[in-house]
Amino acid sequence: MTELVIASTNPGKIQEIDALLHHLPITLINPKKLGLILEISEENDSYLNNARRKAQAYVERTGCWTLADDTGLEVDVLDGAPGLQSARLAGPGRSDFDRRILLLSLLHSHPRPWLARFRCAMVLAGSAGSIDSAEGICEGEIIPQERGDHGFGYDPIFLLAGVNKTMAELTLEEKNHLSHRARAIQAILPVLKERLGFP
Ligand code: IMP
Repeated sequence: MTELVIASTNPGKIQEIDALLHHLPITLINPKKLGLILEISEENDSYLNNARRKAQAYVERTGCWTLADDTGLEVDVLDGAPGLQSARLAGPGRSDFDRRILLLSLLHSHPRPWLARFRCAMVLAGSAGSIDSAEGICEGEIIPQERGDHGFGYDPIFLLAGVNKTMAELTLEEKNHLSHRARAIQAILPVLKERLGFP
């Protein structure tokens, strides 16, 4: 079966992508399970370039088709921050909880609603040098109290637009119906099938 590496060390992301691609006849490779953990510097010029660098690094090491995503949370009253800095908000080595607390402290003095969106760039890279990409966006707002215990990252404080639920109040299946990552996967799916040779 064709192998597809998921260029991530984030178990939440891998679980979501795994469920989204479950219907395809491919073997998904979690690089961590192979003992392969690559430190890839995020130069922060764009989500797309960050995802491309991750995908290419794993292609070079494994020779396999590789899928990588780079995601950020953009909050309007913070002029799009934390954006490309979403993973490093609060500094290196901090937890998702630390980042949520810091984000809320930055928002504290601004009037609500704190409109926001997740933006996800998805890149498929191949050993012959092909690079394909797609983007997925999910709109919502940041709320001051955490709700729900599914998901990861900023999910407990991200209230979905038009749904009175945070991302963390959704099951994996529900999140995979409407998330930024699910939309990016749906958008890249036709080219992924074509590249990997599926009808
Ligand atoms: P990266 O794409 O792994 O660089 O993630 C950037 C930051 O956004 C990290 O702090 C993640 O925890 C967070 N993040 C990425 N995807 C999601 C998501 O689907 N929900 C909530 N937070 C996310």
